[in-house]
Amino acid sequence: MTSSSVQREGDTLQPLENQINVLTSLIERRKAGGRFPTKLESEYQAYRLRQFFSVDLRVIMSGLLVFVVFGWADFSFGGPDAVTLFSVRVLIAVLLLLLIIWLPRSGYARYSIYVLVSGIYLCFTSVLWNISVVDLPWGYFYHLGMIPMQVFALLGLRSNYRAMLSCSVAMLLSYGAFIVLMPGPDPLSEVDVLAIGMAPYYLLFWTILVIMASYLSYTIESGARTDYIKNRLLALEADRLQYLGRRLQQLSTTDSLTGIANRRYAETHLADEWRRCLRSNVPLAVLMIDVDLFKSYNDQYGHQQGDECLRKIAQKMSEFCRRPGDVCARYGGEEFVILLPETTLDQGCDLAQELCDAVAGMNIPHAQSPFSRATISIGVAAEIPRAGDHYEGLLKKADIALYQAKNEGRNQIKRQSVTDY
Ligand code: GH3
Ligand code: MG
Ligand code: MG
Repeated sequence: MTSSSVQREGDTLQPLENQINVLTSLIERRKAGGRFPTKLESEYQAYRLRQFFSVDLRVIMSGLLVFVVFGWADFSFGGPDAVTLFSVRVLIAVLLLLLIIWLPRSGYARYSIYVLVSGIYLCFTSVLWNISVVDLPWGYFYHLGMIPMQVFALLGLRSNYRAMLSCSVAMLLSYGAFIVLMPGPDPLSEVDVLAIGMAPYYLLFWTILVIMASYLSYTIESGARTDYIKNRLLALEADRLQYLGRRLQQLSTTDSLTGIANRRYAETHLADEWRRCLRSNVPLAVLMIDVDLFKSYNDQYGHQQGDECLRKIAQKMSEFCRRPGDVCARYGGEEFVILLPETTLDQGCDLAQELCDAVAGMNIPHAQSPFSRATISIGVAAEIPRAGDHYEGLLKKADIALYQAKNEGRNQIKRQSVTDY
C-alpha cells in the first residue's frame, strides 16, 4: 500500500463516470432508441449479432420450415411441374439453412443481416417464379404466398427496422413490377377479370401491412436499443460501486499524510499474522520506531516541513518491507511500526539497524539534534506466538525496548530484554 497505488486507483473512476454520463444523457435525451454514436453503435451491433445467433436464427429456421411445408401447394396446383417446383423450393431452403449454420463459424458473421435480407428476397423471387410457371387459374393461389413472405420478413428482421423496411419495399416493388410486366392471359376468363380487378386492393393491403410491420419493427428495435443502454448502465453502476467499495476500504486503512498503512490496518494485520504464526509455530517480529527530537524539528523548520520529513522517512521504511507479509504503518504522530512475520529477533535487529542507518544516511538536516540530522530510534521484539498470549504483549516489549533506545541516546536500536525462545 503506497501513495502511488492510491493515485492509480483514483484515476480509474473518471473514465467509468464519463461512460455513465454519456449513457445517461443518451437516455435523458431519449436518443437510446435511435442510432448511437459510432463506437457505441459498433458495440451494439456486435451484441445484436450474438443475440441474432442465439435467438433470431431459430425464428428464421422455423420460417424456412414453413416455406418447405407450403410445398403442399406445389403438388395441389403445380400439375406436371409439381416435382420441379417442390425440388427448387427444398433446394433454396436447404441452401439457406446451410448458409445460416455456417455463417456464425465463418469470418463473415457481421454480414448476417445482408445474407438474411437476400435469403428472404430469394424465397420471394422463387414464389414469383412459381406464379409464372403454374397454369392459370391455379397460379393465382401463389399470389397469396406473398403475405407469408411479408410475415417471414417481419419476424426474421423484426429487430432491424432498416433491414425489415428495405426487404419489404424491395419485395413490394418487385411484385408490382412483376404483375405489370407479366403478359396477361388472352383471352381473359371470368376468374382472370376478377383477379386483375383485385390486384390494386391486394397491393394496397400489402402496403398497409408494410407500414404496420415497419412501425412494429421500429418499436422493437428502439426497445432493444434502450434495454441495451440500460443494461450497460447497470453494469457500469455495479463497477462503480465495486470501485467505491474498494476505495473506501483503502481509505480506511491508509494514512493520508504518508500514504502507507494506518494504525487500524497494522492492528488487523498483526492479529492475522499472530494467528498465522501461532499455527505455523514461526516467530513474528515487531519494530516500534519513533522519530528523534521531532518536536524541536517542527519548532525549527515549521510543521509543513515536519510533514515532509515524515513522508520521506515513511517512504524509506516502506522500502524495508520487502516480503508479501511485511507491513509498515504509521502508528500515530511521529511513531511507526513494522511487522515482520517469520522473522527472528536477530533478523529483526539486523533489519532495524539497517533502517536506522538508512534514515540517518538520508541526511535530513536537523540543527537541534546532536547528530545534526533527522534520526530514528527503534525497539525490536520477536516471539513465536503461544496459545493464550496476546499480540499486545509483543507490542509492549517493542515499546519498552524503544524507550530504552531513547534513554540511551537515540539514533539506535534496542532489542527486548527477555527473549521467549
Ligand atoms: P523523542 O526523541 O523523545 O521522541 O522526542 P520528540 O520531540 O520526537 O517527542 P515528542 O513526543 O515530545 O514530540 C513529538 C512531536 O511530533 C510533537 C508533534 O508536534 C510532532 N508531530 C506529531 N504528529 C505530527 C505530524 O503529523 N506532523 C508534524 N509535522 N509533526 C507531528
Ligand atoms: Mg513519540
Ligand atoms: Mg519522537
